[in-house]
Amino acid sequence: MSVPAPGELSSRLELSASAFRANVAAFRGVAGPSRRVGAVLKGNAYGHGFSEMLPLAHAEADWLYAITPNEGLAVRAFEAAQSAARRDVLVIGAVSAGEVVALAEAGVDVVVADRSFEAAVPLLRAKGLKASVHVHVDTGLGREGFTTTQLAAGDADGLAAARDVLEVKGVLSHFANTEDVTEQSYASTQLDAFGRAFEVLSRRIQVAPTTSRHFAASAAALVLPPSRFDVVRVGISLYGLWPSTETRLSSKVVLGELPTLHPVLSWRCPSQVVKWLPAGSYVGYGCTWRCGADTRVAVLPVGYWDGYPRLASGKAHVLVNGRRCPVLGRVMMNHLIVDVTHAVTNEAPLVATLLGRDGDESLSAETLAGWAQTIHYELVTRLGAHLPRRVVE
Ligand SMILES: *Cc1c(COP(=O)(O)O)cnc(C)c1O
Repeated sequence: MSVPAPGELSSRLELSASAFRANVAAFRGVAGPSRRVGAVLKGNAYGHGFSEMLPLAHAEADWLYAITPNEGLAVRAFEAAQSAARRDVLVIGAVSAGEVVALAEAGVDVVVADRSFEAAVPLLRAKGLKASVHVHVDTGLGREGFTTTQLAAGDADGLAAARDVLEVKGVLSHFANTEDVTEQSYASTQLDAFGRAFEVLSRRIQVAPTTSRHFAASAAALVLPPSRFDVVRVGISLYGLWPSTETRLSSKVVLGELPTLHPVLSWRCPSQVVKWLPAGSYVGYGCTWRCGADTRVAVLPVGYWDGYPRLASGKAHVLVNGRRCPVLGRVMMNHLIVDVTHAVTNEAPLVATLLGRDGDESLSAETLAGWAQTIHYELVTRLGAHLPRRVVE
């Protein structure tokens, strides 16, 4: 069963193509001309919308990183429909042996992160297919990837014996602690482990010295130059968001000058109704808000179902006509009630900005996430997939 599409009176996301292009350009500047810039499209393109962001990312980035096999295949379908040139595409998430075959057929690269890759070998041979793979090394995140101990024990050696069907095109790893700190000592231990792992792989499965290495996500690409290797895998910052305040501070120190990141996303909502509530009126479930004076409220048809966090109740504001308007009472499943007494002069329909710029004010994903005691990564990826999305210049 599919989710019914929202009607016209629903909140919507605007995606700025020029902001995205500027962010890619900023990373090209940071990475330098010898390195390639890859765009991470996981989490429904960080909630921005996979199908809306794909044409932009495809036009701007050298590599595309998808999390699911279907997204990898969707890139190829997009290229076929547009008669566009093929980009390098890597599925960084889990894939079954059957999916390795389907992706090899489509020319989409996959990650080999543990011995389960061996199950795909006979299937590829039976079909006469060759898969391009990237060996994921767990250098200290404790997530997917061969640990250095596993590599030394020969867990990846099957790659040498399967050279007829598995071509090792890359070696990658992922950092555990680059965003939360301003010193990168743990990241350095991961870099050392990566170097050792690459040596082991060169020896045991004869990985070519030219095999592409990629390690850095947004934060490391910005603040840890030795992590940049051949390709940087940039997620959050291509959408115009700093990974963290610490990353921003460190970037200033490491790069000298802060690159400007432009938030790609704005979230706006037309009002369902604007009306006066007399002094003493209660607002919302639990009657947690009571109007101290006559209050002009706007009821907005947007709520936690759409990804507006309920934990922001009692703290959040939205923007109307460039003014901050407090969210009154609790965030509901499909509604927000905001105080627009001073933001408008009548009860005509209005448009509220939940994220983005309105006049001299702007509201960032970091701010809304902070009100909800979470991080902007979670906030944006939870924006409802059902919300209408529109790419603007
Ligand atoms: C999420 C992810 C990235 C991108 O991280 P950002 O901090 O969003 O830039 C890169 N590589 C891997 C393996 C990831 O899981």
